Amino acid sequence: MTQLPLRAQLATALGRTAATLSRVTGRGDGSVIGGRVSLVLEPDLLRKLAHDRKLVLVSATNGKTTTTRLITSALSELGDVATNAFGANMPAGHVSALSSAKHAPYGVLEVDEKYLPEVIDTTGAGVICLMNLSRDQMDRAGEIWLLAQKWRRALAGKNTHVIANADDPLVTWGASTAASVTWVSAGQPWKEDSWCCPECGGPLDRKGMEYVPPGGVGTGAPSVAGENDWACRECTFRRPEPSWVLDDDAVVDPRGRRWVLDIQLPGRANRANAAIALATAEAFGLPVERALPRLREVRSVAGRYTTVERDGRHARLLLAKNPAGWLEAFDVLDPSLPVILSVNAQGPDGRDTSWLWDVDYRVLRGRPVLVTGERRLDLALRLDVADVPFQLVGSFEQALGAQPPGKVDVIANYTAFQQIRSEFGRAV
Ligand SMILES: [Zn+2]
Repeated sequence: MTQLPLRAQLATALGRTAATLSRVTGRGDGSVIGGRVSLVLEPDLLRKLAHDRKLVLVSATNGKTTTTRLITSALSELGDVATNAFGANMPAGHVSALSSAKHAPYGVLEVDEKYLPEVIDTTGAGVICLMNLSRDQMDRAGEIWLLAQKWRRALAGKNTHVIANADDPLVTWGASTAASVTWVSAGQPWKEDSWCCPECGGPLDRKGMEYVPPGGVGTGAPSVAGENDWACRECTFRRPEPSWVLDDDAVVDPRGRRWVLDIQLPGRANRANAAIALATAEAFGLPVERALPRLREVRSVAGRYTTVERDGRHARLLLAKNPAGWLEAFDVLDPSLPVILSVNAQGPDGRDTSWLWDVDYRVLRGRPVLVTGERRLDLALRLDVADVPFQLVGSFEQALGAQPPGKVDVIANYTAFQQIRSEFGRAV
């Protein structure tokens, strides 16, 4: 690595001092404040820190933090890796991540979807992973089609390789201006944000859900072959042929070899994240046989999937922030266990809870359901309408105490999740 210019060195050092001060005074891990201090002193610091490194940017609505962690674990097979492990996913967090591992030849950065164009421009990253786009934080985030359009503009004309989920039409559209793309069939259980063609606004055909025009049977419909296939009825935009395929508990690589994943992180969404991570590792010359054992070492990511314990109750924590995330969390639940649902609506969660109405809760019928969090009444009304019996409780602690000793699953959105972690220990 080349030496940083003096001003950049100073900015990095002062940023790290600020981060340390923040940590020792108990204000979090300090990566955001440290990065901000550094950027004030040297606005071009991110570009300088990124220079000469082999970088991957990871962006999506869901799964960014986990996929970043999986790729980091895989690439550590090749050398030191700088990464923003705690989800500080805007430029200040990136500065902090890269300056705390100054000599690492590799960098894996989780990037907020809205900041991706800026971070692509600044870092000149060689590889970018794009996984899924769906509604999130309805009062804050812009329309996701506009986000995908900004991705297209940012990728056009750059010498960047993209690893993208071909099963998500909006991601496919967002990625398709890139110079080269590795398409991965990583699945898309949540389809409510992709019934229309992003290119022309026409209807998308999907297997088993072919569009029928008003007044009769359509003619000349595009053939939609596989489970995850899709095609526009009115223009040529359709799912590209994937070279990597997530097939139940395994990944099929471009040479047709089937690798059973057998990772410790639970659920379909994490197998999709692992498929993206394996394709990314190969883009760095790391074969599946070396990358996969590294993915299997990852047990939890920033507290997700960990278990907290009190008085003999063992609660497994699942984070879900939006409708697509809740759908993936339901897939992880143990149907034999009670489940506690906790919903807040503070700034980081988005204040608008109308998204609760987009989730199909009927899968929760037949098990004890406890509802808590600041917006428990919003969720209670929604469950009532869906005919899901539940018990309303004042706090997470009461919810846990209301259960007999044993295991329980918990789904919480962002600040509710953080509250539970800070009150009940930061088991990792
Ligand atoms: Zn179209």
